[in-house]
Amino acid sequence: MKEVTMTIKLPLFEPTKLKQEMYQTMRNEFSRLLNRAVDIKRTNPKIAVTDIDKLLKQDSILPTTTQQEARKLALSRYDDWKKNQKTKSFPRFKEKQTILFNNQNWHFRYDNGYLKLGIPTIEGRLTLEKYVPVRTNEYTSFWVHFLLNGEMDKTNKYYDSSFEQIIDIKKGNGQLYEKKKRWYFAFSITLTVKEKENTDETEKSVGVDRGLRMIAVAGCGQTGEYKIFNGRYLGHIRRKYHRLRKQLQKAKNMKALKRLENKEQRVIDYWNHVISKKIIRFAEQIGAKTIKLEDLSGIRKMKKHWKQSNRNIHSWAFYDLEIKIQYKAKLKGLKVEYVDPYKTSQECFQCGKVKKTNRRGPLYTCSCGYKKQADVNASFVISTRPSIAG
Ligand SMILES: [Zn+2]
Repeated sequence: MKEVTMTIKLPLFEPTKLKQEMYQTMRNEFSRLLNRAVDIKRTNPKIAVTDIDKLLKQDSILPTTTQQEARKLALSRYDDWKKNQKTKSFPRFKEKQTILFNNQNWHFRYDNGYLKLGIPTIEGRLTLEKYVPVRTNEYTSFWVHFLLNGEMDKTNKYYDSSFEQIIDIKKGNGQLYEKKKRWYFAFSITLTVKEKENTDETEKSVGVDRGLRMIAVAGCGQTGEYKIFNGRYLGHIRRKYHRLRKQLQKAKNMKALKRLENKEQRVIDYWNHVISKKIIRFAEQIGAKTIKLEDLSGIRKMKKHWKQSNRNIHSWAFYDLEIKIQYKAKLKGLKVEYVDPYKTSQECFQCGKVKKTNRRGPLYTCSCGYKKQADVNASFVISTRPSIAG
């Protein structure tokens, strides 16, 4: 069994001005309580939790459950500070705080076809939850439906038969926040996924070689099947952004630079979604149970790949693809494992010889007679390398 936690974000549906003002009051109060709680703890480190709650309750307008969430967060930040006093400054919370709700304190219900969210607020009687409409799309409504009904809506376009591996869905904590003048409610769900059983000894793996020229190559050494995710469509985008970035850096236009980076990130985010999905599909099609990635946490490979000045966005793109593969694989009951990245691109898949000059441009040619597209060879090597433990 495996657990996957995801966060689902829903915009509130046109909250009235009055409601928005109320949320603002709530988050300011939440922030005040956070600061008050850490101060109480600092003056009296041995104080009991119930006594902190009593003190907070004396003058707070927030519902008790929300006060308790503030106290919980404040104490965890305080403990964190206490342990790392040398490097961390004393926790201070800014005014625009995200308001937290534990999983018992928020609910969904359908009302005339609208999805409504119930959270404790300061409106009217404190104990009553007030329901506000939230907006869903096909993707978010798939998960909301699953959460509310305990079963998946098979007519939803996001439904995939491999989701049948998911045997349980649990509701997690929720949070209310404002971003760019819009209000959102985000909540987490934890899925329990049944892992596919490994009965046969010759279990197939897919190795993924991530690169700049080819965004990724997925290949299975055991069967010789592979798929290339060409970087052509991203290549010109990268060059364009690289050029623009240089210009803006020269002009020291930081604001425009940030905007450009955000935009580039969105483009990469989109393609990483597409590619990770295709890699998973490829693994399923050939019946592989494991996806192997190079462990790039070490520095070795980075030097090779990120000579360019725009290394940050590249390292982010690599890492982002990894996260997306991980999460999509888990949802489908596939394993993700890591291998040592040492000279994967110089090793011959057929005879195991490691020779730098075997790789010339896009081709890998070995004296043993083996000849393959270089990134495909690397993906085969990765697919058959032993996984690093842990
Ligand atoms: Zn060879």
